[in-house]
Order: sequence, then structure tokens, then C-alpha cells
Amino acid sequence: MRRIHSKLFTPGPTEVRAEALQAMAVPQVHHRSPEFSVLYANVQTKLQRFLYTEGPVLLFTSSSTGAMEAAVQNCVQKKCLNLVNGAFSRRWHEMTVACGLPCEALENPWDKSIKPEQVEEKLATGAFDAVTLAYNETSTGMLNPLEGIAEVVREFPDVLLLVDAVSAMGGVKIEVDRLGLDVCLAGTQKALALPAGLTVCTVSERALARAEQVKPKTYYFSFPVMMKYHKKNQTPSTPSISHMYALDVELDAILHEEGLERRFARHVEMAELVQAWAQRHFSIYPEQGYWSKTLTCVNNTRGISVKDLNNKLVEDYGARISNGYGELKEKTFRIAHMGDLTKPEVHGLLCTIEAVLGL
Ligand SMILES: *Cc1c(COP(=O)(O)O)cnc(C)c1O
Repeated sequence: MRRIHSKLFTPGPTEVRAEALQAMAVPQVHHRSPEFSVLYANVQTKLQRFLYTEGPVLLFTSSSTGAMEAAVQNCVQKKCLNLVNGAFSRRWHEMTVACGLPCEALENPWDKSIKPEQVEEKLATGAFDAVTLAYNETSTGMLNPLEGIAEVVREFPDVLLLVDAVSAMGGVKIEVDRLGLDVCLAGTQKALALPAGLTVCTVSERALARAEQVKPKTYYFSFPVMMKYHKKNQTPSTPSISHMYALDVELDAILHEEGLERRFARHVEMAELVQAWAQRHFSIYPEQGYWSKTLTCVNNTRGISVKDLNNKLVEDYGARISNGYGELKEKTFRIAHMGDLTKPEVHGLLCTIEAVLGL
């Protein structure tokens, strides 16, 4: 096994910049001290700018899955419509079932995006009061049409839109308030380019009002409990303070060093580079028009061994990509182009894959 670091071109975890790693190594402050509240408030202001929202952005010390569970536990009263077209959106359905909440899955083939008309038809029945969506399906490299789906959901004032933006946030623009997203969450180890262990989660006034009615059967993941402390610039339990320092550093880099628009443009450029390459040598898994800006899921049309390719990349070149997810293993492979990766780095990876495969 190669002992030196392999550069991650995987759709989470992703590469973490040295400044963010260093920020995690600072001495701890006490989570009930004024110093902590200053850190919390600073991060809060930056997160609100980053997500185009004036509402609270809660910080869960858990991976994204925890906050997904929080979203359904706090926001589903009548019945939840789970939009499923991949492994992570399916996880949200399985979780809603596991939580004992009334729900129904609207399932598409995994290479087909969720269409706003499909959502409208379901919501028109009046049966639902919440909808879950994986904006960027990391298992398939599919960017679902959030704008159109959000527009449909806004026509139904009693329906909350819960968005898993895990591999999108930090790579594509998400205007939380303009779109009227009720919950929008992402763990920090994807396009936010930090280690795993912290999840940011926006909550709308409507979501908070719903949570008060629902009385969620969870304490750690309760929005009302989180809000009680949020108002004091604190969290109910001891958070990963180290992550918060790193997030503060990364948000400075995003907002001030690179700038949001330039960051989003860089992701588009990296996606175009990989997707042109994938079409030249293979083909792309999801239907055209919905390709992700942060990762590409490539059809293994050449029948290569993805496992062998990845082993060679790791052993000989110090780079790692991802095999297909679940049933798509060996049938597809995934190249991430998110977070702090640069176009030259992605270009280098593609040249390396060409060399390994003799393309
Ligand atoms: C990675 C991922 C998850 C799960 O995230 P964890 O942080 O591992 O809990 C959920 N949804 C999407 C879209 C993801 O990419």
C-alpha cells in the first residue's frame, strides 16, 4: 500500500487545503465562552452570504446523513414525497420509512432527472406536506432541476422543500431564499473541501414553525432545541470546534480570495473539461442536459477494469477516483471535479488516465 497521500478526485471526501487543516490544529476554546460565540457568529454571517439567505444556518456535528434525518424528523407531519433517482435520494426515502413517518417514493430510472411536472402532479393530490430532493445525485452525476422543482413546490404553501445539496454546495450557486428552500443541507467533506464531521443546514421560518408543531422525536437533531442555542451563538451540545475554525478559513477563501462567482465558474470549466473528455473516450451516464457540475459519472463503454485502473492511479500516480456506486460498480466510474481542485489538476488526471489505459 502506498503510504504517501493520494490526491482525491473522489466525490467526497475531497482534498483539503493546508490552511484549513492548520486551522483545525488550534487550541480549543470552550463552547460556552464568549470566544466561541464570536467564532459562531462570524461563521454564521459568512454562511448566510455563501448561501444567499438571511435565515439561520445550523451546524450539526455529524455527517450529512444526520441532518437529512433531522430534516424529515422536524418537517414531516402529514406525508413526505421522496423524489428518488439514485442511491442518496433513495437513502432519504429509506430513512423516512425507518423514522416511522408517512411517505411515498416517486422513483425514476437512475439516469433520468426528476421533472418538475412529475412533482406538480403528485403535490396536486394534496396528500403531502414535505418533499425531499437530492439536488446533485452523487451516485449518478445528475444535477436535478432544483429551480423548476422549487418553483412547483412554492405553488403549494403547505409543502416544505427539503434539499440534500451535499455534493453541490460550494460548487454551484444555491440561492436559498430566492428559491424558497425550507431546508438545504450539506456535509463539509464534498464541494466545501473540508474533512467530514460537520454539516451546515439552512432552516426557513416555515420549517421552524412546522418543527414546533411536529414536536420531533429527536433531541440531538431537533430544530427547536438547536434554535434555542443558535440565538445565543451556541450549539446545544459540544460541537466540532476544530471544524468551525476550518470552515471559517474556507469561507474566507471562497468569499474573499476567489469570490463566489469565480468559484462557480471554475466548477463549470472543470465539468466541461471532464465531460468533453468522457464523451470523447466513453459516454456519460445521466441524460444530457442534467450533468453535474461537480462530478462526472462515466459509462464504462470500453469494458475496462475500473478497480485495476484506480489501483494503478493510486499506486503509480498518487491519485484516486471512484468506482460506480452500488449497482453501477464497474459499469461506471466517477471523477470528482469539486471543491478546491483546479483545472490543471483535473487536466493532469485525465492525461494520467489516458496514459494508464493507453487511449
Ligand atoms: C455524500 C452524500 C451523502 C451522505 O453524506 P454523509 O456526509 O456521508 O452522511 C448524502 N447525499 C449526497 C448527495 C451525498 O453526496
